[in-house]
Amino acid sequence: MNFIRRFIRSLDEMIFPPVCEVCGIALTGRRYTCEACQQELDLLLAQPACPTCASSPGPYMSPDGRCLICRSRRFHFDGTVRVAPYMQPFESLVLQFKFGRREYLDRLLVDYLMAALDQAPWRSEIEAFVPVPTHWFRKATGGFLPVPVITKYLAQRVGIPDILLLQRTRLDPHQIGLSITQRINNVKGSFRVRPGAGIDGACICVVDDVMTSGATLDEIAKTLKRAGAARVYNLILARAGQPEAELPLRENVSAKT
Ligand SMILES: [Zn+2]
Ligand SMILES: [Zn+2]
Repeated sequence: MNFIRRFIRSLDEMIFPPVCEVCGIALTGRRYTCEACQQELDLLLAQPACPTCASSPGPYMSPDGRCLICRSRRFHFDGTVRVAPYMQPFESLVLQFKFGRREYLDRLLVDYLMAALDQAPWRSEIEAFVPVPTHWFRKATGGFLPVPVITKYLAQRVGIPDILLLQRTRLDPHQIGLSITQRINNVKGSFRVRPGAGIDGACICVVDDVMTSGATLDEIAKTLKRAGAARVYNLILARAGQPEAELPLRENVSAKT
């Protein structure tokens, strides 16, 4: 009996480890974060976001619902919902999941994704979830693939199929330290739709972990629409970057005057 109880407790601790996933303090009960970290998380989750690019709009939202970024760039996707901005403490949860061997956090992150998705006005249109693809070389060299993992689990929970519709034509180009224009050029032609996919008129929801400039998701939406998709939306864990930092210099200056 003791053995069974111990076994159940160790299973429980695998799902709900006894420390806060953000700050590491000891916890009691079935939860992922301490009270203080949860309060900060709740504040982040409640922050408004641009319905098109999911950035935090600040005071610059236009009456038609476009943020400064969307007024200076025209994206190929039709909308984006995020769980939270890519800031602490949510940033820690995402990093722990991706790189910290905390794969059990998929339950929590998919709960958050489902709650974000329920807020999307296009929720009922979606016919398939499509993960941002991983290059075959990265798959072959092993390692944890966070985006396909959460997409698969999300699809099971929501009851909409997930389809590995896209292929990368080259190894993920490095985007760090590049300007917006360089990022856009860097991902051009990086994706193709698998032959025989048959997505004419389809409404697709692309799933990703962290959206930074939006260049990758934009290239994917362009690729899917060229292959026949009618509408492409994005569901992301986190949106990085400040709107002002992403704008072309002239727009940036005029926004402040
Ligand atoms: Zn904590
Ligand atoms: Zn926007």
